[in-house]
Amino acid sequence: MGSDREWLDEAVRRIEADYQRSSDTHLIRVDLPRLSGITLYLKDESSHPTGSLKHRLARSLFLYALCNAWIGPETTVIEASSGSTAVSEAYFARMLGLRFIAVVPASTAQPKLDAIRFHGGEIHVVDDPRQVTAVSARLAAECGGHFIDQFTFAERATDWRGNNNIAESIFTQMEAEEHPIPAWIVVGAGTGGTSATIGRYLRYRRLPGRLCVADPVDSVFHRHYADRAVTTLPAGCASCVEGIGRARVEPSFMPGVIDRMEAVTDAQSIGAMRALADRLGRRVGGSTGTSLWACAKLAGEMAAARQTGSIVTLLCDGGERYAATYYDDAWLAAKGLKWREPAEQIAEFLC
Ligand SMILES: *Cc1c(COP(=O)(O)O)cnc(C)c1O
Repeated sequence: MGSDREWLDEAVRRIEADYQRSSDTHLIRVDLPRLSGITLYLKDESSHPTGSLKHRLARSLFLYALCNAWIGPETTVIEASSGSTAVSEAYFARMLGLRFIAVVPASTAQPKLDAIRFHGGEIHVVDDPRQVTAVSARLAAECGGHFIDQFTFAERATDWRGNNNIAESIFTQMEAEEHPIPAWIVVGAGTGGTSATIGRYLRYRRLPGRLCVADPVDSVFHRHYADRAVTTLPAGCASCVEGIGRARVEPSFMPGVIDRMEAVTDAQSIGAMRALADRLGRRVGGSTGTSLWACAKLAGEMAAARQTGSIVTLLCDGGERYAATYYDDAWLAAKGLKWREPAEQIAEFLC
């Protein structure tokens, strides 16, 4: 046990040292000249070392599992993930000298698999996407490993009262703005961890800002929000927006702390994503477009009610991994996604 405790001390120190060397992610201000008195802010989560907001989640999940003594020096770490979470977890596993296996559905895009391998992770492909959780648990049992399980533990692995979580960071960075308390914070939900952290923080700090979750039309979360009896999607229903929207309600999704949900079509998400990429001069991911569409709707309502204020959303990941999909006009046309008109609407909102 003594040597395990020494190993644990060193593992936690390495993660903390990595954090110490990192700076906070930027909060980018986007003025909206057409809507006077309303300002949009984007928290740029693409600037983490592994390129997405999942860097925060992976750090929290590893610290939680380490301090629960679920991971030791010989533990193989296993995750069910179709992408960004596995990329970030592979990064932390390598930092600790641990073997890491990502259990992924067969449909997972090549650039994500390449990124997992780049950080030293192994890939286990499963044909039926509904089996990734069961297969992960089985693999862990077989090899005496640990299934780190983002969809169960995301909401509880983060220190929601503070400790520089994403909510505390946003409010600190907003302090010198005209409207330091955002009227709305808009995020997507994949695990639901980010929305749980922000919703709890607003309540704990007794802040008047509200939380809106933007969800693909083909996701169960907004249906469950409207009717808690609905817990799965009809078969054949699937969104193309990676990172958000699920076919079943995951344990980490906390509907009670969400003030409003907006359902967004894939065409609206992609259109908004394209318009924002043009405005920023750099590519962003699809889930950022989903949230931006909801931001535009909320801003329009605020303007109609003659309200001023700020709206904060996340730039969840960059567009590099989507060059052959969301940024390929032929791919979008083959999917039948009519994104150009929504793109024009959002371009107008942003100019
Ligand atoms: C995971 C993810 C989200 C949603 O974050 P959660 O905290 O898991 O709900 C949004 N966008 C992207 C690109 C993601 O990978």
